[in-house]
Amino acid sequence: MSEQLNRSTPVLVAGGGGFIGGWLARDLVAKGFTVRCADVKPLEDWFQVHEAVDNRVLDLRDIAACREAVRDVGYVFNLAADMGGMGFIELHKAECMLSVLINTHLLVAAREAGVRRYFYASSACVYAADKQVDADVAALREEDAYPAMPEDGYGWEKLFSERMCRHFREDFGLETRVARFHNVYGPHGTWSGGREKAPAAVCRKVIEAVSSGSGEIEIWGDGLQTRSFMYIDDCVEGINRIMESDIRDPINLGSSELVSINRLVDIVEEIAGTSLERRYNVDAPKGVRGRNSDNTMIRALLDWEPNTPLRAGLEQTYAWIREEMARLAPVRSP
Ligand code: NAD
Repeated sequence: MSEQLNRSTPVLVAGGGGFIGGWLARDLVAKGFTVRCADVKPLEDWFQVHEAVDNRVLDLRDIAACREAVRDVGYVFNLAADMGGMGFIELHKAECMLSVLINTHLLVAAREAGVRRYFYASSACVYAADKQVDADVAALREEDAYPAMPEDGYGWEKLFSERMCRHFREDFGLETRVARFHNVYGPHGTWSGGREKAPAAVCRKVIEAVSSGSGEIEIWGDGLQTRSFMYIDDCVEGINRIMESDIRDPINLGSSELVSINRLVDIVEEIAGTSLERRYNVDAPKGVRGRNSDNTMIRALLDWEPNTPLRAGLEQTYAWIREEMARLAPVRSP
């Protein structure tokens, strides 16, 4: 059943020190919720720290930490996972799969604590690989996750955890909601260090090329692979709508504006007012050939879909990364 979340019921955002969790916590505070965030990173590494939030550093792979995190909480949003872009998930499969401990223990603790509703952040990486071999994609519908052949490591963990949510609902009566996010980007996301995803990586590389005057950019793959990218505001809006809805099965939460990686680079170059020489690194991790979100279901059930134009979201993201790079740049001696 659909249920408007009760603002006097405390909320846990697991992974609140991360990109999406940080924005979700901000939104929930603004709406008047009492919010607790839990994340394994030391507080100084959280992407956003909100003063009005009960911020706790906890390793949620541990059931005792999960019990502490859910104490006196009525709603749980699980956005905690050990993850990153293709450069990370292709080389850290065991670490990605260990996130199964987070969701499993959080579900157990949430059930014990009598949590009313539980949201799980799944991913388009659950979709079967053979549906994503062509850059000229047919957008992925929810039923395309089966027969299962998800992204090795990360995608298998997500698919298993989706099913854990389903069975906790069916067998134990814990109301669970599951969204399959498609590439989320925006300010306060990872933009360096190896876990960043394509939009942030391209923004950083263009800024570096402009400031160093190198005039060139390295692109992973041949640039013809296709994706869609969802702006963070749409992601937060969608999480809230899905959490309050009666949609019990996993549902796509993604943009359906399909672009090639080359087009993504074009847009960032336009924003930067530059044009760079492209070097294609075909040996770099590149993921599936093409992927888009089929939004038929979300439009039908919520009469809404993510709708921020890529160009508009990238302008915000580019400006934020440029500021971060300037802030962190070593001060040059005269
Ligand atoms: P993120 O890495 O910025 O945030 C995840 C947070 O989880 C991090 O702050 C991390 O420290 C925390 N975490 C990891 N292990 C933990 C542990 N043992 N205990 C407590 N916290 C732990 O990632 P994000 O982009 O904000 O993603 C949030 C969720 O959405 C994840 O589940 C991710 O798999 C999913 N997702 C994201 C995208 C995307 O494009 N960003 C796409 C699909 C799915």
